[in-house]
Amino acid sequence: MTTAIDPVDLAARLIACPSVTPARGAVFDVLEEALTPLGFTVHRFILGEAPDGPVENLFATRGTGAPHFAFAGHLDVVPPGEGWASDPFTPDLRGGLLHGRGAVDMKGDIAAFVAACADLDHQGTLSLIITGDEEGPATYGTPAIMEWMAARGIRPDMILIGEPTSEDRLGDIVKIGRRGSVNMWITIPGVQGHVAYPHRADNPVPRAAKAIAALEAIHLDDGSDSFQPSNLEITALETSSKATNVIPGAAIVQLNIRFNNLQRGADLVDLVRRTAEEAVPGATVEAKISGEAFLTPPGPIYEIVSAAIEAETGQKPRLSTHGGTSDGRFLIALCPVVDFGLPNATMHKVGEHARVEDIHALSRIYRRVLEKVFA
Ligand SMILES: [Zn+2]
Repeated sequence: MTTAIDPVDLAARLIACPSVTPARGAVFDVLEEALTPLGFTVHRFILGEAPDGPVENLFATRGTGAPHFAFAGHLDVVPPGEGWASDPFTPDLRGGLLHGRGAVDMKGDIAAFVAACADLDHQGTLSLIITGDEEGPATYGTPAIMEWMAARGIRPDMILIGEPTSEDRLGDIVKIGRRGSVNMWITIPGVQGHVAYPHRADNPVPRAAKAIAALEAIHLDDGSDSFQPSNLEITALETSSKATNVIPGAAIVQLNIRFNNLQRGADLVDLVRRTAEEAVPGATVEAKISGEAFLTPPGPIYEIVSAAIEAETGQKPRLSTHGGTSDGRFLIALCPVVDFGLPNATMHKVGEHARVEDIHALSRIYRRVLEKVFA
């Protein structure tokens, strides 16, 4: 009944479906057509409206009972950008490399999931949690799948996210947690006026500079055993007017904090609010917490993934919490989560490509993980 799957061929077919975030439709058809003959029951649902949607999500599952192991990932991709040597949505195999938007982030990894599952006989439950919005705001993405799962009492025991975490070679890095991220916008009020009549205006820009200096002076923490120190970066300074002869009526300071597991997003917002108000009375702060920091507690998923990588590559991976965030920030609410996938050197770049041999080796590593989980 089951058949072998060539992960490179499946990755190419996924790349051939343009799926710039938020994604739905054809790219999910390809995945469903690959999974159904393998005995998976596939649920698909489209949610939301522009600008954050519509988003398609897919939950596929095979078997029943414990253990319940799930792969997680996303089929949306970032926009291709200009300057590709070949069409970004026409998979191009040359020199042992598969070129195309999504080759490493993360259609190659999802194809490796499917190939690893294909002809595996197992007890327990094997699922795939696949969203069409990881690269965007995720409003209708993984959190929506989790709601759908919760309503049906579905809860995996461990989740492997296939984000491209490897750096110099396949298997060198496994992510066991991620930093949190929060964006904030501080509005410094002023009174608009003519530059020639400053006594009739109130310039917010010098006060914005004061607020920035106060924010830059904050020492958040020294990092923890598993995380680097939390970091605040000013990312933009805007004024309500750009005219050369106008004192602007307001200035807006935009900042981002990447934070470790010693911090909580809401506390950081309070800290920035207090600091800004102290430096500049009347300053107001808006904030959007993209995700809290998380760390998977030590447990079997570490050892299983590490051992599978070592068996395939001959080298143990390094466990890391560096880099950007992932949907692990949501999924950690369910069970232990690790991130492991292809080398990420070209992700989000023009000319994104994966080594064909890496896609095959990744699917063999995933296969070893499954054999151990379901042994
Ligand atoms: Zn990704």
